[in-house]
Amino acid sequence: MAEVYTGRFAPSPTGLLHAGSLVAALASWLDARAHGGRWLVRMEDVDTPRCVPGADQAILQQLASCGLKPDGPVLWQSQRGDVYAAALQNLVNQGWAYPCGCSRKDIESAQTVARHRAAIYPGTCREGLKGKPARAWRLNVQAVQKALGLPAVTHWHDRRLGPQQQNVAEEVGDFVLRRADGLWAYQLAVVVDDAEQGITHVVRGQDLADNTARQVVLQRALGLPTPHYLHTPLVLGADGDKLSKQNGAMALDLSDPSAALAQASQVLGLPVQPTLQQFLAQAQASWGRLIAPQKT
Ligand code: GLU
Repeated sequence: MAEVYTGRFAPSPTGLLHAGSLVAALASWLDARAHGGRWLVRMEDVDTPRCVPGADQAILQQLASCGLKPDGPVLWQSQRGDVYAAALQNLVNQGWAYPCGCSRKDIESAQTVARHRAAIYPGTCREGLKGKPARAWRLNVQAVQKALGLPAVTHWHDRRLGPQQQNVAEEVGDFVLRRADGLWAYQLAVVVDDAEQGITHVVRGQDLADNTARQVVLQRALGLPTPHYLHTPLVLGADGDKLSKQNGAMALDLSDPSAALAQASQVLGLPVQPTLQQFLAQAQASWGRLIAPQKT
C-alpha cells in the first residue's frame, strides 16, 4: 500500500513568523495539498532558553490567519524528552554514541575550519574521556557507517536542488545528539519526530539543506525511514544574508494575510491572487506545475 503523504512545518518558537518562515510554511502546505496529503505542525521548542513564551500559540494564530491549519494535533518537542532519551540509549547500546568532555573552546582550538556555526569535531573523546567529565553526547559517524555498510559520502536527493552529497565524518565530524547543557540537539529531535509523525515529505528552507546528510546517517542508525526532501529558496535580508532577526526580519504583519502570502508566493514563483481563498486555490494548481509531485 502506498504511504500517505504527510508533510510538516516545524518552526522554532523563538519569535513570531517572519517573511522567510512563511515561505517554508506555505511551500510545505502547498506541497501537501498538491499531493492530496496531510500537513502537520511541530513546535521545535527543544532549545528552551531561546524560546519566547507564547510564541508557539502566536505562530499557530499567524498560520491560521493565512488559512494554513494543521490536519492533526501539534507536537511540542519540549514534551518529548523521554522519547529522545530512548533513542540516545538505543545508539549507546549499539556503541554508536559516546560522551564528550570537550568544551567549545577545546574544539575550536583543535581545528581550523568552521562550518555553519558548528566547528568540525575532531573526534577527541571517541576513544574515551581521559578523565574529563562528560558534557555532550555525540554520534560516532564512522562506527555507524562501518557497522551498516554505508558509504563515507552520504548521497541524498533534493527535489529542487537535485543530487546532494556530504562526507559527514570529514565535513562535520561526530555531531552532537545531546548538548552539554542537557538539552536535546536539533538533529536527534528532528529525526525522531519526523519518523514519529510519519513524515514522508520534508519541505523547509534552504538554510537547513546542509543538515540533511547528518539526518540521513542518523535515520540509518536508528532504523528509521528517510523522507523526500525539498528545500525552498531563502528570503534575503538587506545585507544579502538569510533573513533573520539579526538583519531586520520583522514579524509578519498579518493584519493583511493576502499581502504576506503574496510576498511569500513571489519567492516561490507562484502567481499572486487578490483574495486569500483565490490565492490558496490557485496556488495549489500552480505548485503542482512548478514542483513535480513526488510519488510516495
Ligand atoms: N525548527 C527549524 C527552524 O525553525 C526547522 C527544522 C526543520 O524544518 O527541519 O529553523
